[in-house]
Amino acid sequence: LVALTGVNKHFGDLHVLKDINLSISKGEVVVVIGPSGSGKSTLCRAINRLEPIDTGTITLDGQPLPSEGKALAKLRADVGMVFQSFNLFAHKTILQNVTLGPLKVRKLGAKQAEQRAMELLERVGVANQAQKFPAQLSGGQQQRVAIARALAMDPKVILFDEPTSALDPEMIQEVLEVMVDLARQDMTMVVVTHEMGFARSAANRVVFMADGEIVEEADPETFFTSPTSRRAQDFLGKIL
Ligand code: ATP
Ligand code: MG
Repeated sequence: LVALTGVNKHFGDLHVLKDINLSISKGEVVVVIGPSGSGKSTLCRAINRLEPIDTGTITLDGQPLPSEGKALAKLRADVGMVFQSFNLFAHKTILQNVTLGPLKVRKLGAKQAEQRAMELLERVGVANQAQKFPAQLSGGQQQRVAIARALAMDPKVILFDEPTSALDPEMIQEVLEVMVDLARQDMTMVVVTHEMGFARSAANRVVFMADGEIVEEADPETFFTSPTSRRAQDFLGKIL
């Protein structure tokens, strides 16, 4: 579904993605872990073209990512993104946050968009907050709205960049539960997270990055019990 081939990216002198090769199949849940600054966010941002790459190719359904115009807007709808900081529109209600994309990009009718949005808000457990504004919700609730907003576009894949890192501990679980649920329903997901419980229970594959490189990838069981690279061993030693 998504394929990165020989992808390189620099910020000035800093080589942040080094010859990345990664392919993600439909229905697969890929967890990306690695030390701070290893390029995890840049990798996610490259996949929905929030960040242009220097060399290499990224394809979605076999097609190279578009760089501008309507095709780029469609790409952003096809490749959903959930950020650490929720990024909801502060001056729109929860319902409007979820209907906006479908109305604008997917050209859904108002009634249809609202009905679908309410179903999704129900699914993530915040339907009763639909008329409120983001600031009136807890972090966990806001993040679940952000997930509903991504889902409303019927994306082919959703990228999650440390979706629970900004949350108080008691709210982490409620967001992870929604994500585990999505994984069970065969949503294709790329998840940057330090939640090893999620990785163990929901990931099909763990990708370990360090210094802009994919150092190791394996199924979670193999990765956590017998990482082969020194850098992965060191990293796991620190976080587990
Ligand atoms: P973290 O775990 O802290 O979120 P990360 O693995 O997501 O880290 P990235 O955010 O992808 O890492 O950053 C990779 C490197 O690129 C870092 O050294 C970072 O400082 C640098 N970097 C990221 N964005 C930019 C930018 N817009 N301009 C310049 N340097 C950047
Ligand atoms: Mg990051």
